[in-house]
Amino acid sequence: MPSLTPLPALIDNYMWMLSDASGGKALVVDPGEAAPVLDALDELGLELSAILVTHHHPDHIGGIGRLLEEHPRTQVCAPVDGRIPIAHRRVAEGDVVEFDAPAARFTVMEVPGHTRTHIAYCGGGMLFCGDTLFSLGCGRIFEGTPSQLLASLDRLAALPGDTRVCCGHEYTLANAAFAEQVEPANDALQARMRQARALRQAGNPTLPSSIAEERAANPFLRIDALPAREGQPKENRVARFAALRAAKDAFRA
Ligand code: ZN
Ligand code: FE
Repeated sequence: MPSLTPLPALIDNYMWMLSDASGGKALVVDPGEAAPVLDALDELGLELSAILVTHHHPDHIGGIGRLLEEHPRTQVCAPVDGRIPIAHRRVAEGDVVEFDAPAARFTVMEVPGHTRTHIAYCGGGMLFCGDTLFSLGCGRIFEGTPSQLLASLDRLAALPGDTRVCCGHEYTLANAAFAEQVEPANDALQARMRQARALRQAGNPTLPSSIAEERAANPFLRIDALPAREGQPKENRVARFAALRAAKDAFRA
């Protein structure tokens, strides 16, 4: 079994490394900077075999150039988007990316909303979802529409409950403050907040979480469970999702 590690980068990013010590190789998702990846590879004596990219934002691709200089045989997989200048393979909905070392197989899901070409990689019980789904939150809508982001989140929420959610940022506690305001009596949310606080106090990541945990505590996956706000028809879930996302944008803890 390859091992999965979140490498902290920049301010609050995670670059997910999947490594196989016996095969001597690793792959990394969304390398926003190169140095922590190079350090981890050095320490473990591994070669970089692949880079998976979820979307074009600099905090997810900034390290690619330098990693390719140091590990020229690395294969870069990325969505079809010219704003990601380097890719050996462009992938889209339903494509399968497969590696021998580390042994891994992922199916590509198009999950627009945060950006219009955002993709996720899902396989082996892991979901690399970039800035689409966060623990207790979701990405901001920069290029898409609320309806697109909601459809993307609906698809991710429908994955098996034990799928490990490997997202792009350590935003759990900040998201929790908003989630608690939305749903103060949610016991699963309270339990997740206690756990996340303890993890952060010990200097550990709060990730990965699981799809089951997110379904129970993440307000953006709970549109149908939340009470409708004033003036909003209960049946219009896109409008309710849009209002929730807008409230989060305006929220200051
Ligand atoms: Zn982003
Ligand atoms: Fe990001």
